[in-house]
Amino acid sequence: EAVTKKHDVVVIGGGPGGYVAAIKAAQEGYNTACIEKRGALGGTCLNVGCIPSKSLLNNSHLFHTIQHEAKGRGIDVAGVEINIGNFQKAKETAVKQLTGGIEMLFKKNGVTYYKGAGSFIDEHQVKVDPIEGGEELTVQADNIIVATGSEPSPFPGIEVDEERIVTSTGALALKEIPKRLVVIGGGIIGLEMSSVWSRLGSEVTVLEFQDAIGAGMDGEVAKATQKFLTKQGLKFQLGAKVTKGVREGDVVKIEYEDVKKGTTTEIEADVLLVAVGRRPYIEGLGAEKLGLDIDNRGRLVIDSEFKTKFPHIRVIGDVTFGVMLAHKAEEEGIAAVEYIKNGHGHVNYGNIPSVMYSHPEVAWVGQNEQQLKEAGIKFKVGKFPFIANSRAKTNQDTEGFVKFLADAETQRVLGVHIIGPNAGEMIAEAGLALEYGASTEDIARVCHAHPTLSEAFKEAALGTFGKTINF
Ligand code: FAD
Repeated sequence: EAVTKKHDVVVIGGGPGGYVAAIKAAQEGYNTACIEKRGALGGTCLNVGCIPSKSLLNNSHLFHTIQHEAKGRGIDVAGVEINIGNFQKAKETAVKQLTGGIEMLFKKNGVTYYKGAGSFIDEHQVKVDPIEGGEELTVQADNIIVATGSEPSPFPGIEVDEERIVTSTGALALKEIPKRLVVIGGGIIGLEMSSVWSRLGSEVTVLEFQDAIGAGMDGEVAKATQKFLTKQGLKFQLGAKVTKGVREGDVVKIEYEDVKKGTTTEIEADVLLVAVGRRPYIEGLGAEKLGLDIDNRGRLVIDSEFKTKFPHIRVIGDVTFGVMLAHKAEEEGIAAVEYIKNGHGHVNYGNIPSVMYSHPEVAWVGQNEQQLKEAGIKFKVGKFPFIANSRAKTNQDTEGFVKFLADAETQRVLGVHIIGPNAGEMIAEAGLALEYGASTEDIARVCHAHPTLSEAFKEAALGTFGKTINF
């Protein structure tokens, strides 16, 4: 007979959505448990996503900078080499510290952590299959939050072995620098991984089916991004329909069709990365058996209060609608608990920033030009290049620009798109502006410190209604 544990709130999945929801629920006074089967908290993001990728991105950038730019900065260094073992170890240390940190936060907030796979027995009971042997448990709860996340989408006909043909998970853990890396998919994950390995010396070719990279970027920004990445050595083949990807010994043979020309090209790689997006993950959850609605893209269907057809079962994060981003999942985690507690909660889906952590970074929030044109909204553009920003100049880091889109009549900020050093940090100011309904004049009248990169932000805002001073 399985032991039964009772809780007010049970969260299935310990990723950014789930762990944040669990902590928040405990803080609100609920007896809360979180079920996670990975063996570590933090989900995709901390274990095989945001965090490890940023470690590799940061350190590969440092390496590349020292190797190629130190001299020009008056720093003479000799014998700069990459030690791939230690490079990966630095990543693992960051991951370990952060996932361990969540476990501490659970203890501090009194969240019970069940290490195991959760599956629905019925709408109030979840079975926990412990990962470390041990006893099977039944967990009973008044409220259940499902946050089981996502997994890499497969590419039909291409078999992943996480060694030569890899998903992002394998691409984060390569033990050798591939001489030739081919990446299917020019989205953020594909481009971040391309940047890492290219900086370490791989010849990287990105095959993208669409006629632009950076799915979701403002058109002008996507073009400029492709340009700076090309300058950094990445090769792009847009309009490329991959038709084959097979491993033959230590080589991967790839075939793609140029959709415009109709020609077929064969290329070889040491590693092929399949980065064609992610899909909701509900394997073993028992969602079908329980009768939860699942849409044609595999997402658990919810209403505007995150509720499934069982009002006490809510769903957040990658496994349901919306952009697959950690901070979006976190916001939903908080809002879902607020619904449980107060009957209301809120996520502003029009104000979720996106960041690509290339160098320079690419970040945006709000609407892009395509979307505004489609919606028939009249807007003005304000732009300021980092080449004209004093701090960027002193840093010898001048690639990119800040671009504001503001309502033509009211100057209300509608969207901000940045390519530039630290764009991912700078975009937070745009988020604040959007949230408070600021106009570009509001921003242009805020005193920004000199010399900082954020002066480019202020000047770009100014550019939507007046003349920029420094450019
Ligand atoms: P997940 O993080 O996927 O967590 C779900 C958890 O639930 C998993 O740990 C899983 O083991 C567990 N689980 C599933 N089923 C069960 C079950 N039945 N029982 C128990 N446990 C279960 N986002 C950003 O915002 N910024 C970035 O820089 C960024 N970089 C990324 C880089 C890469 C390479 C990848 C792959 C993703 C990146 N993402 C990034 C996306 C981000 O990781 C996800 O959006 C985020 O992790 C979603 O959080 P989640 O809580 O919904 O799900």
